[in-house]
Amino acid sequence: MLCLGIESTAHTFSCAIIEKKRKQGRILSDVRKIYRPPEGEGIHPREASRHHAENSPRVLSECLQKAGVKINDLDLVSYAAGPGLGPCLRIGAVVARSLSSYYDMPIFPVNHALGHIELGKMLTGAKDPLVLLVSGGHTMILAFLSKKWRVFGETLDITLGQLLDQIGRYAGFASPCGTKIEEIASRSSTYVQLPYVVKGNDVSFSGLLSATKRIMPKGLESACFSLQETAFSMMGEATERALSFTGKKELLVVGGVAANKRLSDILVSICKRHNCAFFVAPKEYAGDCGSQISWLGLLESSKKNGVQLADTFVRQSWRIDTVEVPY
Ligand code: AMP
Ligand code: MG
Repeated sequence: MLCLGIESTAHTFSCAIIEKKRKQGRILSDVRKIYRPPEGEGIHPREASRHHAENSPRVLSECLQKAGVKINDLDLVSYAAGPGLGPCLRIGAVVARSLSSYYDMPIFPVNHALGHIELGKMLTGAKDPLVLLVSGGHTMILAFLSKKWRVFGETLDITLGQLLDQIGRYAGFASPCGTKIEEIASRSSTYVQLPYVVKGNDVSFSGLLSATKRIMPKGLESACFSLQETAFSMMGEATERALSFTGKKELLVVGGVAANKRLSDILVSICKRHNCAFFVAPKEYAGDCGSQISWLGLLESSKKNGVQLADTFVRQSWRIDTVEVPY
């Protein structure tokens, strides 16, 4: 089975083709084009969607070419139907609908967050993990129970990715800024006290964002170091409590922030204490990409036939814990 997956929820427009044989997946191609706002600015949804529309033909043809696949060889098409930015989501949906109707292919609208998790499981071999999903759009701790991913902690305001990106933009860098913050933080070991907010098993980052902005003029390196230490320790505390509560023996980290080495170091030490295996999505596939959408389309197609074109929705707010998993 060959599936074309289309991702367009936020800054990334990506097409990927995965081949599934029995339960194994093989990524044949994954081509991305990322919208980069001007330095110091965030994503403008209309500009990002214009970027996606302009780049979609090139990304699609490069994806087919790299996979060595003709469009008629595809068995199905899947697209990220949400959650995400409406104007961006619509571009992916339009491309998927056009291909589905013209080439008569089954079409699968899939949940972007679930795609992060399923691709992470496929690439790491994790079977039944507690998942930490940390990205531009999500900060959630999840475990699978009775057909749904249940939330065991999440952000009450901005996400971990937004926190890092907003600090980076305030310092004048171009978004996304997580890698840049990580690199600057690695040059310091001076901790400046910042607000640490864990409520129940949820986290809140807005006070940390304001306080970090206030200490930045005194030294960018120590500010980035202290920001990472505070935010990642908060995530560590909530993750450790969820591990104890659920008794899971695997921890899987997915989403763009999973690429951060310091975050992994903190989580590895927690896993050691709990005799728990640690998995992290490979850097190349941690962030938004077509592969997460393609793999989810293939998993869903093992139990469903796709949807009618009239039901090919996009949903800006579509929580993962409302999705019933059919496979
Ligand atoms: P996603 O939404 O899954 O594509 O993830 C994008 C987010 O990951 C952005 O907020 C980036 O700043 C963040 N990110 C990427 N690389 C790193 C890194 N090395 N450390 C921290 N955050 C990162
Ligand atoms: Mg994402």
